[in-house]
Amino acid sequence: MRDEQGTKAEKPFVTGTGGGFSLLSVFLLLQAPDREIGMNHATAKARLEASLVELEARLTNISRDLAEPPDPDWDEQAIAQEDDQALEHQGSLIEQEITSVRRALGRIEDGTYGICVRCGEKISPERLKARPEAALCIACARSAAYPTV
Ligand SMILES: [Zn+2]
Repeated sequence: MRDEQGTKAEKPFVTGTGGGFSLLSVFLLLQAPDREIGMNHATAKARLEASLVELEARLTNISRDLAEPPDPDWDEQAIAQEDDQALEHQGSLIEQEITSVRRALGRIEDGTYGICVRCGEKISPERLKARPEAALCIACARSAAYPTV
């Protein structure tokens, strides 16, 4: 009886002083995951947009180099052709990256960002940090014949 009364007597004291604070803590705790996800998506979007700008600049440079008129010297022309092939290859790789980045931005828009396009599982935050444009979870990426979709 005495213990019960003691507990009853203490309860209002604990909730009375801590009530406001703990309610705020609970509120913040509940808010935290959503806000974190939102921040991650905002960060991912910013990173994707930045890399899109960079990739497009690189592609523009490659196109400009490829558009240069051929050298009249035959030897130089042969070298230039090899260079052009390397540039074209580089260019197509950049185009693929641009496609991946644009798709990732599209997934942020439609709310499916961070979800594997193949199996529907969540892509790990570590993987998204390393590759914000990742469309596949690590398991699918490993089993896929090609690294990106
Ligand atoms: Zn997957």
